[in-house]
Amino acid sequence: MSVTAMATATSPAVGSIRSRRSTSGVTRFKMAVRSSSISLAVAPLLTKLQQDCATPLPVLRNVADSMSADIRAGLAVDGGSDLKMILSYVDSLPTGDEKGLFYALDLGGTNFRVLRVQLGGKDERVIATESEQVSIPQDLMSATSEDLFDFIASALANFAKKGGNFHLPPGRRSEIGFTFSFPVKQTSIDSGILIKWTKGFSVSGTAGKDVVGCLNEAMDRKGIDMRVSALVNDTVATLAGARYWDDDVMVAVILGTGTNACYVERMDAIPKLQGDFPPSGRTIVNLEWGAYRKGLPLTVFDRDMDAASINPGEQIFEKTISGMYLGEIARRALLYMAEEGSLFGKSVPEKLSMPFVLRTPDLSAMQQDTTDDLQTVGSVLYDVAGVESALNSRKIVLEVCDTIVKRAGRLAGAGIVGILQKIEEDTKGAIFGKRTVVAMDGGLYERYSQYRRYLQESVTELLGPETSQNIVIEHSKDGSGIGAALLAATNSKYGRNC
Ligand code: ADP
Ligand code: MG
Repeated sequence: MSVTAMATATSPAVGSIRSRRSTSGVTRFKMAVRSSSISLAVAPLLTKLQQDCATPLPVLRNVADSMSADIRAGLAVDGGSDLKMILSYVDSLPTGDEKGLFYALDLGGTNFRVLRVQLGGKDERVIATESEQVSIPQDLMSATSEDLFDFIASALANFAKKGGNFHLPPGRRSEIGFTFSFPVKQTSIDSGILIKWTKGFSVSGTAGKDVVGCLNEAMDRKGIDMRVSALVNDTVATLAGARYWDDDVMVAVILGTGTNACYVERMDAIPKLQGDFPPSGRTIVNLEWGAYRKGLPLTVFDRDMDAASINPGEQIFEKTISGMYLGEIARRALLYMAEEGSLFGKSVPEKLSMPFVLRTPDLSAMQQDTTDDLQTVGSVLYDVAGVESALNSRKIVLEVCDTIVKRAGRLAGAGIVGILQKIEEDTKGAIFGKRTVVAMDGGLYERYSQYRRYLQESVTELLGPETSQNIVIEHSKDGSGIGAALLAATNSKYGRNC
């Protein structure tokens, strides 16, 4: 490509960097020449990335519409679409009337969390709550099922012993809501078969078994008088926790290391659901939306990352929008720009070739930089990739981060609109024209302000200013812990108001 062609391909942002530089004095001249050649070579690469990641309204609309269609097809029959549309068996939602002492146990990564809550009904609500985080020793992540569940049961027992201000009526067993964020084939509200361990776990003897049974047996072995009365995933627990405070909550979305969504569906709108419906007539359905794939604007970096992953061809939406991957997509783009566009000068920083060396929190830290010379960007690049960077390179790095996070946030927003559209199509007025809440949780959503902004922007663009005013997208802080305890209460063996 000729120099002229490259120059015309320059994006406005890069163009402005260059014009500012042209006023530099003599001492800065050398640097200016070097930087200028950097941006000349990199500019078309950045422009190409921005074009490939672009999410104009028609792209968003197509994603929202395809998400709706996939939801419908997945509800019709198992295997009907990329979305599994898993029935949660949660068909009575918290009302606020729940009373008593309940526990929650959250196992979904290298830590597990135990929580206890004393519920006081409509007037008193949450009287007291207490939680503890326990890290799982590395060796237990590849031990036997008995070892792992014995460890969890013991930690739960230690925690339970310490509850001074918490009261359980005599003769009653403590009940637990178990949030288990691994792939499970749910068989009832309090049972589910582990399909496979993920996230670094390779515990032997659990796959194919009921995980509630495994925990209950471990509690029996340890002589602990507690029982699991609800098994849920984190998205479902988040919806339940948010719904406790607000009846308008209809959808919950997790944006953390991975991503998922669930919503409240009418049972008669689920053709694959057989048998009699409970009185509520509604249930929570878990989309497993990370597996969605239609109409996504993908780049060569996404394709390469997918090919190198442990699950090629799977979880494409998750790989485009969730925290585990955004840093890695940016790293691949930056490495390419360093190699093909001399982004960081003549040499290519060696560390930048290491997969996953740049993490999503690094992107977020760089994007919060407000200094004139982009000091934070400079130090993150230095610390993470051993890169000494000029200001112009830092500006381009920021453009790359913004391009990746903008696409992610906007696509997540389109996914949310897809869910809302599906509910509205079935029941006119169920969503639009009244207040509807989407409960959000997860470290990515919580800690990346630009991501939140792009997500909201996309929802507003898709729905228009008037309709979107009634759609409240809000962070449900720690909703999932309390949510699981609340589901233990709504599914209590002793009735929900004891
Ligand atoms: P998990 O999804 O593993 O249950 P969290 O909901 O706490 O856990 O999310 C953790 C994820 O959130 C991290 O893997 C990371 O991708 C993302 N994250 C954490 N901190 C930040 C941050 N400061 N900025 C952007 N993303 C972050
Ligand atoms: Mg989590």
